[in-house]
Amino acid sequence: MSGYQQLICSDCQAPFVFTEGEQEFFVDKGLKPPRRCKECRAAKKASGGFPSKSVQRRMESQSAHSPENRVNVGMGSDDSEA
Ligand SMILES: [Zn+2]
Repeated sequence: MSGYQQLICSDCQAPFVFTEGEQEFFVDKGLKPPRRCKECRAAKKASGGFPSKSVQRRMESQSAHSPENRVNVGMGSDDSEA
């Protein structure tokens, strides 16, 4: 018997394979099986869409908390390009 499962992506409805290795990884991390195929997960990740609000709040408060750091980073990248 094969160890993989075939799941349906909740975004694009495409079937995708949830391999035995991935299942072990998810169980090991205490995660639920993925609902989206790799392409949709990658697209979501690339768009910077974090489902957790706490992560967004942390990032916002960090940048709001240290405006000097942001200025320094911007100047540094300008410098290396020139
Ligand atoms: Zn998909």
